[in-house]
Amino acid sequence: MSKYSVGMPDEKGYFGEYGGQLLPPELVEVMNGINDAYEEVIKTDDFKNEMQELLSDYVGRPSPIYFARRLTKKLAGAKIFFKREDLNHTGAHKINHCLGEALLAKYMGKTKVLAETGAGQHGVALATACALVGIDCEIHMGEIDIAKEHPNVTKMKILGAKLVPVGRGTKTLKDAVDSAFEEYLKDPVNSFYAIGSVVGPHPFPKMVRDFQSIVGKEAKEQFLAKEGKLPDVVMACVGGGSNAIGLFTAFLDDEDVKIIGVEPAGKGLNTDDHAATLTLGTKGAIHGFECYILQDDEGNPLPVYSIASGLDYPGVGPQHSLLKDLKRVEYKTADDKETLDAFMQLSRLEGLIPALESAHAVAYAMKIAPTMSADQSILVNLSGRGDKDADFVADYLNL
Ligand SMILES: *Cc1c(COP(=O)(O)O)cnc(C)c1O
Repeated sequence: MSKYSVGMPDEKGYFGEYGGQLLPPELVEVMNGINDAYEEVIKTDDFKNEMQELLSDYVGRPSPIYFARRLTKKLAGAKIFFKREDLNHTGAHKINHCLGEALLAKYMGKTKVLAETGAGQHGVALATACALVGIDCEIHMGEIDIAKEHPNVTKMKILGAKLVPVGRGTKTLKDAVDSAFEEYLKDPVNSFYAIGSVVGPHPFPKMVRDFQSIVGKEAKEQFLAKEGKLPDVVMACVGGGSNAIGLFTAFLDDEDVKIIGVEPAGKGLNTDDHAATLTLGTKGAIHGFECYILQDDEGNPLPVYSIASGLDYPGVGPQHSLLKDLKRVEYKTADDKETLDAFMQLSRLEGLIPALESAHAVAYAMKIAPTMSADQSILVNLSGRGDKDADFVADYLNL
């Protein structure tokens, strides 16, 4: 049991002063129902066996750890390793928790899984998991995002998901959340709301963390087998924080291992165009839970920006909020320019085109590696592959 996660969250869903269920009483009851079902179902052999089989034979786990020789040589400092979540089916870590959520919904006897999506990554991963598990899937997506994210929209349709365009308000993620949640409230008994990161009301930050913790569990064993010791630094990008907490959980008690989460500094921390929630945010609440948040004077979430659409969220997971206060994890940033540079360098030195989200973590690793010695090592979570970003980057850089 980890000193940093023992008894956490507590039975009300708090990690220290973060998390919880800021919801009307009837919804608290619904969430507690999900928590009870989760705790019961995950202990059954049927669930464990089915999850295990799908993770290995369908997702392709364990994902390997890869030593980036040429990148390391170029930086002339610490050895850099990548946990290859980009090799998972559907190309990122999100399938780990989407599969868990879809399977849980099935075991709970739900007939429909619902979610919103911004750029469509969560939508595609969830539609994939629902097709596999055999349960209806409904994805709410802003009309502006639908126009922008054509390949993901097409994939969701092919996978059989019902796509609900949201034409109100900003026509983007924020209103898609409201729309999906309203639909969920019409029938919370038969439907399941699948949250896409370690955010939202309890039990989601806990469940999504648990489903993602396979990443760190594998990585620790693999790294020990390869190098005979633990890495000096583990690192991951932080949007809501699911890929990061997935890797970090296994290392929280290894106090010699430095843990770094990397947030998007966008066009600069001194501009309005970033999403560095833990770096510049303050304590507040969003979407039914308490956490650090980028907010205005009235507590409304500020508009945020990242070149990586998967990182532009004004809140962050409650456990990350606590880990920041405890100083167990350091939260740093990478800006657009550093991220694009890392994206190109990794592509050309290693033949790995990273997701722009993951490229934030790569950028920070590239920054600190030269300050470390050759007998030290950095393990970076390569949370996803960059196929989805290739056209955008090529246009942006005029390639
Ligand atoms: C969605 C996404 C992220 C951000 O989500 P977290 O919950 O912070 O992990 C990071 N990387 C990739 C590849 C993504 O698709």
